[in-house]
Amino acid sequence: MAEKLNAVKGMNDILPPESARWEWLEATVRDLMGRYAYRNVRTPILEHTALFVRGIGEVTDIVEKEMYSFQDRSDKYGDNDHLTLRPENTAGLVRAVIEHNMLYDGGKRLWYTGPMFRREKPQRGRFRQFHQIGAEALGFAGPDVDAELILLASALWKTIGLTDVRLELNSLGQPAERALHRAQLIAHFEKNADKLDEDGKRRLHSNPLRILDTKNPAMKEVVESAPKLIDFLGAESLAHFEGLQAILKANDIAFTINPRLVRGLDYYNLTVFEFVTDRLGSQGTVCAGGRYDDLIAQIGGKPAPAVGWAMGVERVLDLMKEQGTDIPLPTPDVYAVVPGAAAMPVALRTLQQLRDAGVRVQMHAATVDGLGSFKSQFKRADNSGATYALIFGADELARGEVTLKALRDGSGAQTARSLAEVATWAATLQSPAPNT
Ligand code: ATP
Ligand code: MG
Repeated sequence: MAEKLNAVKGMNDILPPESARWEWLEATVRDLMGRYAYRNVRTPILEHTALFVRGIGEVTDIVEKEMYSFQDRSDKYGDNDHLTLRPENTAGLVRAVIEHNMLYDGGKRLWYTGPMFRREKPQRGRFRQFHQIGAEALGFAGPDVDAELILLASALWKTIGLTDVRLELNSLGQPAERALHRAQLIAHFEKNADKLDEDGKRRLHSNPLRILDTKNPAMKEVVESAPKLIDFLGAESLAHFEGLQAILKANDIAFTINPRLVRGLDYYNLTVFEFVTDRLGSQGTVCAGGRYDDLIAQIGGKPAPAVGWAMGVERVLDLMKEQGTDIPLPTPDVYAVVPGAAAMPVALRTLQQLRDAGVRVQMHAATVDGLGSFKSQFKRADNSGATYALIFGADELARGEVTLKALRDGSGAQTARSLAEVATWAATLQSPAPNT
């Protein structure tokens, strides 16, 4: 036998029955996005490397060390282009918004879902191919739309039954306010340079704000005693932050203000937020977002404000499991038992009529060992979770009938159904599909 090949480390196959949980979450999200009037976008998985360097920032973990990049070959469509598998979708979405001039007639509310790629150390909640669901509102400046996005995420937690997530908020103010803070922050860390770890020392001059985001407990004290950005905010920034808080309070959305919650790049401003849980170990952020009013201009568009969030699908599903949230698994309504191959033409025609009427049908099909015994077919019918077995026995077919046997109500009741009138009894076999 040929050598076995496995998936790339950190990249997962999503298989049944697990894939049903994914479909269920995706359907729930799709429905919810519709209720908030967010429209779906799908951008390419490959983009020019330069987009992420500009759109995420050179001094971030992602651009410094996590991207899957390669140089494409020249042909008439491209010239040795440096391409990257998208590590996130905001940059691509903003590129598309600019490229297609989508803001020409006002703000847009958009959402996406799909795989993202980052070369990180694979562990629970951290993969090399992972999936995000994201929502972005572009062209809107006020705290009302920040609040709308947070309400949307909160509504999702409620719909899927997540209770152990809490909301943390902060404001990053505007670049000029951050510059004042930055100078004092650097002074503070320089004075305490002996208490900084490797990452901290490296970030001291490139990206000191990111030091606040450290996960190193040994740096707790030096970080907690650092000057707080919020004390540097002017009246307008504070009004935006307070406006957001007032809307959240009016909607009974609990939050805490975390002065250490930051994004390290200059085009992030004002609102930042995270939904976090204590139940997933150190990978506890399930959703992260904030305002990026200067990004569109940074990528070459006409300046326009924007705000959004992205959630990690694997972490959300993991938390649902952790909380014991069950979702309906897909099962057929009917399993067709076909004792002899001679019955197949009639069987497939009948099953087709049932499916046309909306009934979910699993057909018993032959393996290399044939169709198998009547008994083994019933065992399969039972294991499939079907509500009914539909038996295409030679005797009943000769009478123009099939036998319908109830598998789940304990009665085992059998009734004859006419092959000439499938449409009339098909409707009685249908159960509502999951997630409708
Ligand atoms: P972290 O600090 O955990 O590395 P991040 O700041 O890199 O997170 P974002 O870029 O803000 O994460 O991405 C938004 C969300 O996507 C995260 O909150 C998380 O739920 C999820 N996520 C990010 N990276 C991964 C990954 N490698 N594997 C699985 N989920 C991820
Ligand atoms: Mg990361």
